[in-house]
Amino acid sequence: MLFMIVLQNISKYYYSESGVTQALRKINMEFSEREFVAITGESGSGKSTLLNIISGLDVFDDGEMYFRGEPTFQYDDRDWERYRRDRIGFVFQDYNLIGHYSVMDNIVSALMIQGLSRKQAQRKGIDYLEQVGLKEYAEQRASQLSSGQKQRLSIARALAKEPEVIVADEPTGNLDSETGIQIVQLLKKVSEEKLVIMVTHNYEQAEPYVTRRIRLHDGEVVNDISEGTEEQKNQEEAAEADREKEPGEGKRNHMLLFFAWKNICTQRARSLLYCSFLLLVAAVSFLFLGELYLNKDDRFTRKYNNEAYYHKDDTRLSVRYPDKREINEEDLKQIKGIKYVKKVDLCDYINDVNYYMEEGKDYEFVYADQIEGEEQDTVSFLEEDKFAMSSAVIDQSDLKAGHMPESRNEIVLYSDNEKDLDTEKTIYFSNPNLWGGGQYYYRTFTVAGLLKEKTEQVYFSPDYCYMLTSALWGGSVQLDFFYDPMIQVYYGELNLFPVIGEDLQGNEVRVSDNQSVPYMPLPQGGGLKLGKNEDVFPGQGRVSVFDSQKDEMNQIEVEITSDLSDNSGQIIELSESLFHKLFQEKYDQASVYITDYAKTDKVIHELNKMGYDAISTFQVGATTYVWDKVMQRLVTIGIALVVLISVFIFQLLLGSSLMKLKKNDYRVFRSMGMSVGSLCRLGYFEMGIYCLFALAVTGGLMLGLGAAGVGLIQDILNYYDWKGTVIFLLYNGLSMACMVGFFNRNIRRKVMA
Ligand code: ADP
Ligand code: MG
Repeated sequence: MLFMIVLQNISKYYYSESGVTQALRKINMEFSEREFVAITGESGSGKSTLLNIISGLDVFDDGEMYFRGEPTFQYDDRDWERYRRDRIGFVFQDYNLIGHYSVMDNIVSALMIQGLSRKQAQRKGIDYLEQVGLKEYAEQRASQLSSGQKQRLSIARALAKEPEVIVADEPTGNLDSETGIQIVQLLKKVSEEKLVIMVTHNYEQAEPYVTRRIRLHDGEVVNDISEGTEEQKNQEEAAEADREKEPGEGKRNHMLLFFAWKNICTQRARSLLYCSFLLLVAAVSFLFLGELYLNKDDRFTRKYNNEAYYHKDDTRLSVRYPDKREINEEDLKQIKGIKYVKKVDLCDYINDVNYYMEEGKDYEFVYADQIEGEEQDTVSFLEEDKFAMSSAVIDQSDLKAGHMPESRNEIVLYSDNEKDLDTEKTIYFSNPNLWGGGQYYYRTFTVAGLLKEKTEQVYFSPDYCYMLTSALWGGSVQLDFFYDPMIQVYYGELNLFPVIGEDLQGNEVRVSDNQSVPYMPLPQGGGLKLGKNEDVFPGQGRVSVFDSQKDEMNQIEVEITSDLSDNSGQIIELSESLFHKLFQEKYDQASVYITDYAKTDKVIHELNKMGYDAISTFQVGATTYVWDKVMQRLVTIGIALVVLISVFIFQLLLGSSLMKLKKNDYRVFRSMGMSVGSLCRLGYFEMGIYCLFALAVTGGLMLGLGAAGVGLIQDILNYYDWKGTVIFLLYNGLSMACMVGFFNRNIRRKVMA
């Protein structure tokens, strides 16, 4: 007769710090089908150990166990997993249910681990729930069942797997006697078809039902009595239908996804805990990676020198063609199309010219009697922080009233008072790099349009901008004066910056009546100190401009007047026609403003691809370092790195110990026969889902904060390009994976032992 299970000289030792315990001593016994065996004995006598060995939950140290005549010594881990999964159904004292799953899902999970599809598992589950009388509780949470119901469920789950053996470790231990008896009766019924081995404390309760009693004492069998006259039918099952092997890869992932999802949905609080934890990691890593990015370039550590470009603005690029070809409206459109370009001003130079509009705020008058030796009132500039811009950067749609500047004396600006339209404003200009400090030019403008958006910026007509800065590309005007017709010689010479005097005609020019004229030798010997310009002006003269294209001086005879009433000793007004004879109107250099300094290299790269030369005006100006700030930057980078590494370690340790909350679930999955591999992978699936969620929330949150105008986040977002995003995702993905890996290593070592 072939027994189902045979134990031969089985011994089991436990090793602990306090020494070696021998839990089983050379146990010999056989079990047949349709037995209902009760194992009794005092606490610590080795009952559980015996049961665990029979069920493959624990390994033995000595002896041999045969299953259906087949020795198990050649079983590897895989075989044991299969053994537990397919042959054995477990019933525990504490039920080992997944409390947060529904009654049905508890059964479904066990069946899915066996390789059934979810549908099949559900169909089968219903049958077994019916058998144990729990059908109407299918959708209830397992944790809400009464103790007796829980044990029924655990029996139904064990049965649903259709194993050959049911092992039950004190299944009635937590139940009152009446429910206990019901459970024993249920197991009795089960034993009509299967081998049932039950550990019990309470033999009296089981006595009427069991067919055999084995008593253990101190790891040895002291009694093994078969009670009933049960006929042991030896019905060798012919090569039993090969059950499905471990589910295929695709099916397995599908199953794990099911578990991962179930775990997430049925354990709200725990899911929330994991999510918040990973969210914290994602947010902190976002900020500190961002901090690294922010400090990747050394903008904040530079000192700006305004000799080249007076206007300190790190978002400005200066753009032109290598051959200084004209930049036209077509170019404007093209450049505006580049990503991260905010606005384009065809007239680059005007962007370095200061303007002063509001008396008391931008400038104040200084009266001559306050200035020693001066005869004329003058103005003094308070802040040199406003820079002119041409109206090429805006269009009619930016206006709420009026029109774009059409002539040189028209401007647009913002005002909340509609009455400001068509009023006149006097505006002063200075450009210390060009005209020298203290020099200025002023003019009265008409407000042609009002801007919609509140800004301090005033926009001037391109013509005006061109005119005011023409010296920058045409060169200054040389004015020769004090003419001796006898020998046709000019005695005086001034270099002046040209603008148009609207009221001048023909060859008229005008210089300041405050013009100081240098000492000059006279032909007849001696010298003339022309301290007062009425000695020279008005008079005849000649203006010359160097024409670089023709490589010659362009000279024109002029009539000089000297009633230009400002302090700008260096400005010369020319009639419009004269101006155009000397200067051809073209824009050959544009200012391009980008959304953020972080995008500088990208935009320059794009511009180069289109054939332009481009430089960042900030980079040209900021060539030296402020060492304090360099140190600060290094410290910030150091801190960010330390934080990122700490977060990683923190996640590895705290995260993986948080995962220990799942240990009990894992033990249950394990006893249902889930392989260690699957169990470990389940961790990745579940945490992966939390991680994705955390990343999505962090992303949304940061974009939201950025949009809401939180400065730091905006800065960081500007620096997060696709590479940054990939690094951010990798950091989170990897650290999550390491955390799960770390936890899994522990699982393999401990939980599964
Ligand atoms: P029972 O179930 O009959 O109460 P067990 O089979 O649980 O007894 O334990 C038998 C003996 O083995 C006891 O002395 C117990 O202390 C010891 N033992 C059981 N499990 C372990 C373990 N994991 N590590 C160390 N000793 C153990
Ligand atoms: Mg026990």
